[in-house]
Amino acid sequence: MTEQIKALAKRRNALILAHYYQTLEVQELADQVGDSFALAKFAKETDADIIILCGVRFMAESAKILSPSKTVYLPAPNAGCPMADMVTPDDVLLLRAEHPGAAVVCYVNSSAAVKAVSDICCTSSSAVKIVKSLSEREIIFVPDQNLGAYVAEQCPEKEIILFNGYCPTHHKISEQDVVDAIREHPSAYVLIHPECRKEVLNHADFIGSTKGIIEAAKKSSVEELLIGTEIGVLEILRRDCPDKRVYSIGSTFTCPNMKKTHVEDVLACLNGEREPITLPEDELRAARLTLEKMVELGG
Ligand code: SF4
Repeated sequence: MTEQIKALAKRRNALILAHYYQTLEVQELADQVGDSFALAKFAKETDADIIILCGVRFMAESAKILSPSKTVYLPAPNAGCPMADMVTPDDVLLLRAEHPGAAVVCYVNSSAAVKAVSDICCTSSSAVKIVKSLSEREIIFVPDQNLGAYVAEQCPEKEIILFNGYCPTHHKISEQDVVDAIREHPSAYVLIHPECRKEVLNHADFIGSTKGIIEAAKKSSVEELLIGTEIGVLEILRRDCPDKRVYSIGSTFTCPNMKKTHVEDVLACLNGEREPITLPEDELRAARLTLEKMVELGG
């Protein structure tokens, strides 16, 4: 089926993109693998007519926002992001009414509709830089309370108004999980994603985005790694760094939505058996401004 998909993708001038949290089987099928923002940029820069984005809905929406003339497919139409779904445009508008002088920063893990009513987007790697760059002292940060709290700690000159969203996959890891893991692997290099709770991050040697964790883990001279993010990252590191011993903090770091995409779903997109992503024109335009402001500041 892989050969059939590759041949069909070439014939239809389609680019297949996969997030790091997809199964290795899907990643191996993809033309490019990356984090959510890198995938949107690949989608924007390609001259392919069709983008097949193996990830969750907000990622396919971001690709559509940055490349509106292309046909963008989400192979598993029911692959959503629970954290993105926790905040609505009305929530943002209510916060704006309560804090009229504040700027709204929305994590890229949010719907197009939420991006459309925000001032600027950020990724987990650019959040601190984006918040520091804003002239407003008061910042409404949606939807991730953990990333927001991490940003607040790094930007003491700002007043960060947090929303109560969280990533169920990262948020459920407890401080006890990380303490137990370090007790079992005391000489390990500990790398954790900022979507985890503060009391978990306190034990990290390195805090960074998915891409940041992969790069730092590969560069590290320490042979034992403790990884605090989705299982897909561990699979990549075990494949690419056979000389290292890679362990997870806790045992439940799987995003079920990221595992909904199967090779057959990619084929279904190429066969026209999926509906492409569509967004209302005004929403798309407003969300593009929010995303492009982030791109201007370096992503
Ligand atoms: S890992 Fe968390 S933030 Fe990422 S798609 Fe899954 S639920 Fe959403």
